[in-house]
Amino acid sequence: MLENRSRLKWLEAAARSEENRMKCVICKTGGTQAGDVTVTIQRGESTVIIKNVPAQVCENCGEYYLSDDISERVLAQSENAVNANTEIEILCFAA
Ligand SMILES: [Zn+2]
Repeated sequence: MLENRSRLKWLEAAARSEENRMKCVICKTGGTQAGDVTVTIQRGESTVIIKNVPAQVCENCGEYYLSDDISERVLAQSENAVNANTEIEILCFAA
């Protein structure tokens, strides 16, 4: 999910576009708009769920896209739970 290179490229392009709004690469019909999403990260035995993550969300299929900056923060926030081998952890995104 977060490792998807083509998605990052798409986001970089989206960030550069004037309207900061592009067609969704998954369904190719919806446009994206800013919204909050719940991100689930699965690493080894740990599942980390992070709520209220700011993202660009497709109006049509609901696919979401995180910026590089947000992705990094989401991963950093999940580190503690993963390192502690917590089976499941539910967090709120720390802005
Ligand atoms: Zn879509």
